[in-house]
Amino acid sequence: EGARLLIESVLAERRRSLTELESKALLAAFHIPVTQTMLARNPNEAMMIATQLGFPVALKIDSPDVVHKSDVQGVVLNIQNGASARDAYAEMIERVRRLQPDARINGVTVQRMARNRRGREVYVGMVTDPAFGPVIVFGAGGTMIELIADRSMELPPLNQFLARRLIDRARIAESLAELPGMPAANLDALERVLLRVSEMVCEFPQLREMDINPLIVDEDGAVAVDARVVLH
Ligand code: ADP
Ligand code: MG
Repeated sequence: EGARLLIESVLAERRRSLTELESKALLAAFHIPVTQTMLARNPNEAMMIATQLGFPVALKIDSPDVVHKSDVQGVVLNIQNGASARDAYAEMIERVRRLQPDARINGVTVQRMARNRRGREVYVGMVTDPAFGPVIVFGAGGTMIELIADRSMELPPLNQFLARRLIDRARIAESLAELPGMPAANLDALERVLLRVSEMVCEFPQLREMDINPLIVDEDGAVAVDARVVLH
């Protein structure tokens, strides 16, 4: 099906890592919710796509050579109108060219903003251990370095019990509960994402690494706003 064709076409191009756009397409094939994301190749396309998707949108650099988009100022959030989207495209290309002159640039992705006012940013991933093979990882997400220490792990295939244990063993689990002024995060939605990641990992041994960082979880559900997949 779609997921298999996508992986084959990336390998045919002798690439190992999928862009955010491709990674989200793979997640969506496994019914993992992602922010709707489209590629613009010039400022006017960015404006038109943004208008189609509806505001606010985020713009992000799309390059096979950029791993951490924020590091090259390749993420702009909360764009409110078409003119801003058009300008943000041009400025982003210029910044990235300056900060990483050798990067190949496909364009800029335009995507819906997740409603993350009440959302928690969590990390869901997969790494390949030399001894155990695929390992599913869960913990705090986002761009803050100090959160990286919070990681809980389980071996796939996950079932509901293992998925819940994976969540509960991370320190961030406490902050998913109801807090003053903030309803509890939807743990069922989070659990479903973990189970679908486990299915994907089991169905595709070609996957070497997978990062959803962040997955935004609020009271209504969970949505992947950034993703990266690496193949063997
Ligand atoms: P990076 O490659 O630097 O990890 P991300 O795509 O993760 O770039 O974006 C950086 C941060 O911007 C995320 O951690 C998240 O807080 C926020 N963000 C990115 N995309 C969205 C989105 N569609 N909706 C809401 N917030 C977003
Ligand atoms: Mg990220």
